[in-house]
Amino acid sequence: MKQTRRDFIKTGGILAGGVVATAAIPNTLNNKISKQQSKNYEMNFSFKPHTLKLKHVFTIATNSRTTTPDIITRIEYDGVVGYGEASMPPYLGESEETATKFLSRVNLKQFKDPFELEDIIDYVDYIEKGNPAAKASVDIALYDLVGKLMNQPWYKIWGYDKSKTPNTTFTIGIDKPDVVRQKTREAKGFKILKVKLGRGNDKQMIEAVRSVTNVPLTVDVNQGWKDKHYALEMVQWLKEQNVEFVEQPMPKTQVDDIAWLTAHSPLPIMGDESIQRIPDVIKAHGVYSGINIKLMKCTGLREAHKMLNLAKSLDMKVMIGCMTETSCGISAASQLSPMADWADLDGNLLISNDPFEGTKVINGKLSLTDYPGIGLKPDKNVWGKI
Ligand SMILES: [Mg+2]
Repeated sequence: MKQTRRDFIKTGGILAGGVVATAAIPNTLNNKISKQQSKNYEMNFSFKPHTLKLKHVFTIATNSRTTTPDIITRIEYDGVVGYGEASMPPYLGESEETATKFLSRVNLKQFKDPFELEDIIDYVDYIEKGNPAAKASVDIALYDLVGKLMNQPWYKIWGYDKSKTPNTTFTIGIDKPDVVRQKTREAKGFKILKVKLGRGNDKQMIEAVRSVTNVPLTVDVNQGWKDKHYALEMVQWLKEQNVEFVEQPMPKTQVDDIAWLTAHSPLPIMGDESIQRIPDVIKAHGVYSGINIKLMKCTGLREAHKMLNLAKSLDMKVMIGCMTETSCGISAASQLSPMADWADLDGNLLISNDPFEGTKVINGKLSLTDYPGIGLKPDKNVWGKI
């Protein structure tokens, strides 16, 4: 059965996981809703590529790069515009070409009401398998639009306390010790850093960071360790270096080794490459201590919100992560962050051509705006520029 906008609000946005009370909807909005229901509005979906330029060459265990392919999406409805984004680091298999092909097939004109959010996102998900970033770009734009139509940011619709956002980590990529020291100095405003490991110079990396700062660290190995005994030794050493958790220490295929490591580890072991969508959360239970949720892996906010609730119900830790993204993807993900144990939402800080203003980092902590939707303002001329 299709859900009208008024039903959505009456049911507290339950289908989208919301908790809006009817009494909280101002009369002006109710009036606007009544007027809109009597008209025949259409959702106009469009998208444009916007290659992200990285401030520094970015190196992890598996590759190095200076740009990231990205597409900005837009859904316009009744003069209101929701923005979304697909960020596609090459190693994940999507590209500007694949996303363009996918997004060209998206026809939102068949839906009369953006509040049919679940139906619309189901439709997008079933167009074709895979394409998680392309799907996320539609999901994010739709959430932005619906939040704007309700005139509320999503953290409020979900009932979260924005003062509970975590500090975000800032990532230090793999490099020579003098470069690592310099990058660590530049990151002095952050209260927690994430250090990339897994290329054979692990202790050297940590020692270079520790020669500059004593802030807590997290570590991301990006599947770089192959031997579970070496991994356990490293985790024990890292605990002494004030590291809070270790992310994806071993290849995702080595499930038994990872489960063994987690069982013996003095630190939480978080899954990232192993975790894409809801079924992976179930598989991760008993293997990892927690999961890294990223919008670009999981198809967007609808699934991310469900994964967060599922992981919490399984007593697993949750971190909210990102790719290199504009403030669009980051602001969307940060709407969930008050419920996360950790946030790794620094992707917009790594690029030099961010066309949006949204969630900021203030004294190391994520600071959500009160703009409705995903908390975003586009650069005045953004759609013309990109
Ligand atoms: Mg990771």
